[in-house]
Amino acid sequence: MSEFKKRAIVTGASRGIGAAIASLFGKSGYSVTVNYNKSREAAEAVAAETGGAAFKADVSVPEEAEALVNGAGGAGILVLNAGVSLIKQIQDTTPEDWRRVFSVNVDGAYNVIRAAVPFMLREHWGRIIIISSMWGIRGASCEAAYSASKSALLGLTKALSKELGPSGITVNCLCPGVIDTEMNAGLGEETLRCLVEDTPLLRLGTAEDVAGAALFLASGSASFITGQVISVDGGFAV
Ligand code: NAP
Repeated sequence: MSEFKKRAIVTGASRGIGAAIASLFGKSGYSVTVNYNKSREAAEAVAAETGGAAFKADVSVPEEAEALVNGAGGAGILVLNAGVSLIKQIQDTTPEDWRRVFSVNVDGAYNVIRAAVPFMLREHWGRIIIISSMWGIRGASCEAAYSASKSALLGLTKALSKELGPSGITVNCLCPGVIDTEMNAGLGEETLRCLVEDTPLLRLGTAEDVAGAALFLASGSASFITGQVISVDGGFAV
């Protein structure tokens, strides 16, 4: 397999789901660029574990996303994972809140994909894996901005799969359920207990659960799968 096909960029990989994806890809023989924005030390620790390199870039800034991709020399595998959440009622969601959520979750994915696609077109090969959320499918009360941003990623996945398929590039989307990461640290025990009760498999997901699905989508076993929205949620969204 060419070196390009074994090169991966994982955005937001300093902790949580992104760190687990970077770590699993590293263990599976991929050379991984571990992107972070604020958490340098954590990202460097992940990079040391994966044998890859940490790279600081705020993906919401087009020039930084471009520097991330160019710094890696392009990559055959892109995992668009960087994301921020927001729990607020709509009337309390300020235009700045709304913009921040969309700028990281949606613009961030667009910025990195836009910079990386020319490399993939040159190689006639690519695997784009977008991390959305089950709330992008179902919608979450008091999380309108977050849910809307994650829904946008479903449209991005489907449209891009049609545009890029003829060029040998697959585009798929993972929708995690309730995953035990820092993002959910503020939810409180009672809320988490209710969410587990609503999950048919009766547990929180782990970052490794999501990483396994991402590795599958990057593998040869998934070469005829594109434009798909795959839930990794213990059955929550069924
Ligand atoms: P997390 O623990 O809060 O980690 C978020 C990651 O995103 C961090 O590495 C953070 O890096 C990075 N990040 C944030 N803003 C960034 C920016 N502007 N540029 C680059 N990196 C940025 O979150 P998580 O739970 O692992 O979630 C990862 C993804 O899965 C997100 O897209 C989230 O929406 C999605 N998801 C999570 C769950 C869940 O239950 N946890 C469920 C469904 C979907 P720095 O600290 O360095 O800024």
